[in-house]
Amino acid sequence: PPDVEVLGRATWTFLHTTAAYYPEKPTPTQRANMLSLIRALPMLYPCSHCASDFDERVKEHPPNVSGRLGLSKWLCERHNEVNEKLGKEKFSCAIGNLDERWKDGPSD
Ligand code: FAD
Repeated sequence: PPDVEVLGRATWTFLHTTAAYYPEKPTPTQRANMLSLIRALPMLYPCSHCASDFDERVKEHPPNVSGRLGLSKWLCERHNEVNEKLGKEKFSCAIGNLDERWKDGPSD
């Protein structure tokens, strides 16, 4: 079976980076594709208990695909729910903090 930690880090990297570079004003096609990506994830993710948990959270909190700010924050909140479950620290979902980690890097 895959290493759930390595898989998780790689998946969060992909998702947060993709959200950070998602358009401010996505086209209807871009929105539909992002929604498909998020909804497909729990159906294919090779950690079944991770996947079923994530599926429930996504159903409770419908993805905000309206633009990069909303999407980045939505994803940060879902990741924080997993952090909480695993006893990890919460991450600040302020856009400045998210961009520093996933887009721009530290400013100095
Ligand atoms: P990760 O949680 O992988 O985070 C990587 C980096 O992201 C951190 O170092 C930090 O810089 C940044 N970060 C942290 N929190 C946030 C945030 N809220 N927003 C933005 N950036 C942040 N593991 C399980 O054991 N059980 C599960 O049920 C489970 N479910 C998962 C569901 C999904 C959809 C995914 C993608 C992963 C899941 N994992 C699960 C894996 C788990 O979330 C971690 O990826 C893994 O434990 C490795 O943790 P880590 O401490 O290296 O940091």
